[in-house]
Amino acid sequence: MMADTLTYLKETVIHCKKCGLAQNRTQVVFGEGMLNAGIMIIGEAPGRDEDIQGRPFVGKSGQLLDKILAACGFTREKHIFISNIVKCRPPDNRVPTPQEAEACMPWLLRQAELIDPKIVVLLGATALRYIAGADHRITRERGQWIHWQNRLTMPVYHPAALLRDPTLKRETWEDFKKIVFAYRELIDPNHYSAHV
Ligand code: SF4
Repeated sequence: MMADTLTYLKETVIHCKKCGLAQNRTQVVFGEGMLNAGIMIIGEAPGRDEDIQGRPFVGKSGQLLDKILAACGFTREKHIFISNIVKCRPPDNRVPTPQEAEACMPWLLRQAELIDPKIVVLLGATALRYIAGADHRITRERGQWIHWQNRLTMPVYHPAALLRDPTLKRETWEDFKKIVFAYRELIDPNHYSAHV
């Protein structure tokens, strides 16, 4: 039933023209993962690879994200649903404008409602700003639990930032350890990770 509803939502979203990003996209990147996933990951926007393939986080950032998730014992198929603040690629990978984020937000809210994750992970400054408000700063708030839609929510650095500055990896790993601990506490006490 819920799976049907998510599929129906996707059918609607892939034809969306609510903001100007519709003009230059190749495909809408709806998001993917498990229905009823315990964790929903929210990034910024599709990039070039994602726009071509129609899937979220498939480029270099996505590969790094998959590595981090694997170290936590998480896979996209079993534990995660991944989406973005906006579902169409901004030209030249610029940051989505507040108007674009606002136009796309109802889709994200509906996804969160249907998937009903207990934990939300915000990847990077843009996701944090558009979810929590313009005065929030990733450097200050990463690794600290906040609440969004009554869900335990953790801002962390975007994988693209880790690729630019590998010294951020250590702090990010500490943040993801907290996410694993919360997953065990809220979702599956027997969740296995070789590293946490
Ligand atoms: S970015 Fe979101 S609101 Fe804008 S056209 Fe794409 S799906 Fe619609």
